[in-house]
Formats: sequence, structure tokens, C-alpha cells
Amino acid sequence: MKYISTRNKSIKVSSAQAIVSGLAKDGGLFVPEEFPKLTKQDFDELIEMSYPERVAKVLSLYLDDYSYDELLDYAKQAYSRFYGEDPCPLVNIDEGLYVLELWHGPTCAFKDMALTMLPHLLSAARKKTGENAKTLILVATSGDTGKAALEGFRDVDGTDIMVFYPSDGVSDMQKLQMMTQSGANVYVCAIEGNFDDAQSAVKRIFADPVMNDKLLVNGYKLSSANSINWGRLAPQIAYYVSSYCDMISSGAINYGDKVNFCVPSGNFGNILAGYYASLMGVGVNKLICASNVNNVLTDFFISGEYDTQREFFKTMSPSMDILISSNLERLLFEFSGRNDELIAQRMKDLKEKGKYSISKQELAELNKIFVAGYASEGDTAEVISNCYDTYDYLMDTHTAVAMSVYDDYFDYDGKGDETPTVIVSTANAYKFPCDVYGALTEENISDAQKATKKLNAYTGEDVPEPLSDLDSREIRFTKVIAKENIKDEVLEYTGKDNADNFGKTK
Ligand SMILES: *Cc1c(COP(=O)(O)O)cnc(C)c1O
Repeated sequence: MKYISTRNKSIKVSSAQAIVSGLAKDGGLFVPEEFPKLTKQDFDELIEMSYPERVAKVLSLYLDDYSYDELLDYAKQAYSRFYGEDPCPLVNIDEGLYVLELWHGPTCAFKDMALTMLPHLLSAARKKTGENAKTLILVATSGDTGKAALEGFRDVDGTDIMVFYPSDGVSDMQKLQMMTQSGANVYVCAIEGNFDDAQSAVKRIFADPVMNDKLLVNGYKLSSANSINWGRLAPQIAYYVSSYCDMISSGAINYGDKVNFCVPSGNFGNILAGYYASLMGVGVNKLICASNVNNVLTDFFISGEYDTQREFFKTMSPSMDILISSNLERLLFEFSGRNDELIAQRMKDLKEKGKYSISKQELAELNKIFVAGYASEGDTAEVISNCYDTYDYLMDTHTAVAMSVYDDYFDYDGKGDETPTVIVSTANAYKFPCDVYGALTEENISDAQKATKKLNAYTGEDVPEPLSDLDSREIRFTKVIAKENIKDEVLEYTGKDNADNFGKTK
């Protein structure tokens, strides 16, 4: 299967090339030429499989440069790094209500689902495409991607990784996780600015031919671990397929029945994978797009206008503090009838005017499957407390945003949708201990380590191992730069003979 650019369908590459490049040359995103379908028989087989086998089966339909056995080997390696028996358990908290826990990986956030897999896919893709230059993974992060990418790529041969995060835009715990990152090929730097500033700067580097030439002189080619990379998105489709199988095998639904997925959304990669799963044959009634007060997506799904010119808020769900949701481009590509010129024009409008609109017809089609809502900070805190009291279930701030939006959706008009619903849970509560503990007790604690201990004493829930020893780890990365200087930083890093020691505090 070939991959085409959302902005120019005549750009066509293999799956391995799409993964190595990350972004198409014209700035567009790679999408498969068509979506493979899963039959009833496929589902019968999938139901009997382990999680790594399910991943290998789903990915083998998209990545035909890789054999099933190869993919299975990668998936086994990737998901053996998860703690507990099931990498993504589906927890039944109430009648017809499920939580899909995607945070049992090495960094306790859903990004691990794909970022433990991507380094394997990318290393293999380099070999398959005959790439000799080193790969430089350049990441802009709102917190969780950075850490998960660092863990995934640390000490992977032929690869270096640089991560930029907004200095005041991530939680203390996220910051500490990144500042203490181990590995000889990793670099972490804070920027003054918000996530969109970081993401825009990184995207500009990708699209800058002069910069790419300079990097090549230094022996590097760029690639992306952000969810714009197809190798990130494809493994995410697998857990939608897998949770649907789990619901069938537990007797919650029959094959062909529909379910709702409610997804806390930022860059729109997670929920988009849910949409792709529906195209493959997973029974989906509604995809509920949940936002915090940075509700640009909510407005878009209601009005059809995507307008980034608005106030930016820092919230207790920082991984969703995003105004430019890159993956929406892929969705619009499908709903415009794969009209590449139109998408290119809209993305130009977004860059130049900060907004674009879709047609009434497209919006009506979108609304057949997508609904959207947002939660205020107060709603989010209230839901954390209510779910703990009602279901004895402890959730993080992002999952709580989804739960709150689902509650609103269910109550809407008083005619509740009784379709079984999966709340997609994207982080462990201990990743955001100050806010979660605050929501439960109304006690204000600003120190993440202290809040972790208090939350543990209050709930008796285990602190996941990857978060339990952070305060004893060495702090390696403390640099903060202006957003204008990201380019220079990248050139300096890649120009050093001894990249290992660059920018690290002694
Ligand atoms: C990244 C992230 C999100 C948003 O996911 P997108 O794929 O960017 O929409 C939500 N919650 C958490 C905890 C995350 O890390």
C-alpha cells in the first residue's frame, strides 16, 4: 500500500518511506491510499489473539514493507515494557460504561502505546529505504510525547532525539521526567512560549530546505515522532480494534454492535485513529471529541470554522493545551472527498489568517459521527472527585475532561444515548498528582513529590514504578531558550562531534 500527501495526491511513497520522512515534502501529512477492511472472520481471529498479535495483524494491513513476523517481533518487544498483564485494560466502571486505560507503559501516558513501537518501525524503515544518514528525531511536546519519545528512542542506534517543551506549559512531574532522562543520544530543552510556538518552530525546520541541507552536512536527516508521523498513528488504530474485540469477548456487545468512544483530544491523533478504526470495520456510533477550555475543536465541530485566534489557557490537562490540532488535516482530507488542493488551500489559510472554514455539507457529514464538547477546570476537578466517590475509580485530569464531556453528552436534551461507551483514558493519575489530589481534597499542594505521597496515602492506589523514583534521579537538562533560537540549537547539537555532552549540566 502506498501513502499520499494530504496536500498533493501525486506525492506517493511506500510505508517505510512515509515513516522515515514523517512529513511529506510539501508539508502535507501522509495517509494510506485506501483503508483496509477487517472481516467478521478477521475479528474472530483477533479476539483469540494476544495484544502484540493484534497489533501485528492490524499493522500488517497498512505496512506492507514489513512482514507479519517482523511486526510481531517489534510489538512483543514494545509491549513487554508495559507493566501489568494487559498493555491496555478495558475497565468496566458502570453499566455500559468502560474506561480504556492506555497508560500502563514506561511513561504512564497513552503516547507509550505508539512510541514504544515507532523506534522499531523507524529503525527497520531506515534499513529498508537504504538510509545512511543518522536520523534526528525532532519533537515539540506539550509534556507526554516528549518523555515517551525519549524513552522509546534512547540509545537506539543511528538515531538522536531532541525534545523541546514550553517551559511553563507542562506539569512538574512531566518536567522532572524529561529533565532526568537517561541515554547518550537524547537532548531536552525548554522554550519560552507555549506548545503551539514549539510545534510551529519544529514544523518550520522540517519544511526549510536550507536547514535540511545544513543538517545533512552534519550527517543527519530529520524525522518526527509527533503524531503527524504515520508510524505513530498506525499503532493507535490497534487499541481501538483491540478494545472492540475485548467488548465482544466479554459479552458486553455482539460483533457488529456499535459503541461510543469519548476521547480527550489535543493534536487529534488519538481520536483520528478511532475514526480510522471505524473505517476498518469497528462498530462506532459516536466519536466524542473532548476538550478543555482550549476548545477550538468544540467550536469547529459546531460551527465548521477552525479559528486559532483566541486566548490560550494553561489548564490542569496540559497535554490538551493546543490550538493547532495537526491531525485534523487528515480528517478533513477524508471528508472533503480527498480533495488535496482544497486541503492545501485551507492549510495556507490557517498559516496566513489563523483560520479556515469547511462547507455546511462537510460539517453535516462530520456531525454524523463526531460530537464535541469541553470541560472547564471546575468541571474537571468535580468529575475526578465524583468518579472516585461513585465508582471508586481514580482518574487523571485528561481522562476527567473526557468523562465530564461524556456526562454532558449523555444528559443532553434528557434523551440519553444508551450505546455502550468507552472513555479513553490517556494518563495515570499520578502524572498530575497536585491537581488530582487537589480535586479530591481541595487541599492545595504545589510540590509534585509531596502530592504523590499524599495521594497515595489518601487513595491507597499504587504509584506506578516509572514515577516512583524520580526524585532520586540526576537532573541532566535545565536549559531554557527563546523560541527563535530552536534552529540554532538544533544546528549546534548536530554540529558537535561529541553530541553526548552538549547542553547538559555537569
Ligand atoms: C497527548 C495527550 C492527549 C491528546 O492526544 P491527541 O492525540 O494529541 O489528541 C490527551 N491526554 C494525554 C494525557 C496526552 O498525553
